[in-house]
Amino acid sequence: MIDLHCHSTASDGDHSPAELVRLAAGRGVRVLGLTDHDTMAGVAEARAEGERAGVRVITGVEISVRVGRGSMHMLGYFPGDPPDGLMEHFAAAAARRRARAAAMVARLAELGAPLALDDVLARARGNVGRPHIADALVDAGHCSSRRQAFDQYLSDRGPAYVGYDAPTPRAALALILGAGGAPVLAHPASLGLPHGQLVSEVQRLASRGLAGIEVHRPEHDAPRRRLHARIAKAFRLVASGGSDYHRPGEGIAPGDTGDPPLAPGTADLLLERAG
Ligand code: AMP
Ligand code: ZN
Ligand code: FE
Ligand code: FE
Repeated sequence: MIDLHCHSTASDGDHSPAELVRLAAGRGVRVLGLTDHDTMAGVAEARAEGERAGVRVITGVEISVRVGRGSMHMLGYFPGDPPDGLMEHFAAAAARRRARAAAMVARLAELGAPLALDDVLARARGNVGRPHIADALVDAGHCSSRRQAFDQYLSDRGPAYVGYDAPTPRAALALILGAGGAPVLAHPASLGLPHGQLVSEVQRLASRGLAGIEVHRPEHDAPRRRLHARIAKAFRLVASGGSDYHRPGEGIAPGDTGDPPLAPGTADLLLERAG
C-alpha cells in the first residue's frame, strides 16, 4: 500500500513521526509520504524509523499558499533527505504562523471566545495551526468539539479566520521546483471552484511545472475521483493522493486512500518530475 499524504507532531498531527511510521507499517503501508504543514522537521525521524520498519518514507511537505481570502495547499516531494533550499521558507512560515495564531486569538476575543495565546502555542510541538486553536476552544468550553470550532469560527469562511502572508501559487511552485522537488496540488476540491475554473487553474499550474494533483483521497466519491482523474490526464499530471491522516478517531487511518488504491509506482512517477 502507498500513502503520500500524512501529518505528524511536526505540524498538526497527533503522532510523532516514528509513531506514524510504525502505525502505517502495521496497516501494510510500504511507501509513506510525510507531508507536514510548512516544515520537514519530522522527516529525518520518519526516515530512520522507516528503515527499521520496512517503510520507504518519501521526503515531503504541504506548503500553504495564498489565494484571495483562503488557501491552497501545495505538496512537494523530494528524492533523498530534506533539501536546504526550503529552510528559509520554513523559518519564515513558522514565524508567520505564530503571528497569525495571535491574530486569530485576538479575533476570537472580540467574538466572545477568549483564549490564552500561550496555551494555544504550547499545544504545538511543531508548526502551530488552526487545529491547535480548535483544541484550545474546546478545552476552554467555548466549543463542544473540534468540528464545531471549525464550523463556528475557524473554517476558511469563518469569522475568526485569518490568512497569512504565504507565497502565491506561482511562488510555491518555483520554491518546490527550485529545491529539487515535484509539486502536487493537494485536495483540489477545497479550492471551491466551479468545474471550468478548476480546469483552467490546474492548466495554469501545469504550465508552470505542476507534477500531479490529488485524485485518490478517502473523502472522494467515485464521480469526484473520475473528474480529478480526467483533469490529471488532460494535462499529463500524475494522479496522486493519500489519506491526509492527522489523528485517531476521525475514521481514517494511514493507507486509506479510497478505492481503487493509489498505484504502487506513484512516488517514483512524481520523483521523475522533480525540479
Ligand atoms: P492551517 O494550516 O493553520 O490553516 O490549518 C489547516 C488544517 O486545519 C488542515 O490541514 C486541517 O487539518 C484543518 N482544517 C481545515 N479546515 C477544517 C475544517 N473545516 N474542519 C476540520 N479541520 C479543518
Ligand atoms: Zn493539517
Ligand atoms: Fe491540506
Ligand atoms: Fe494535509
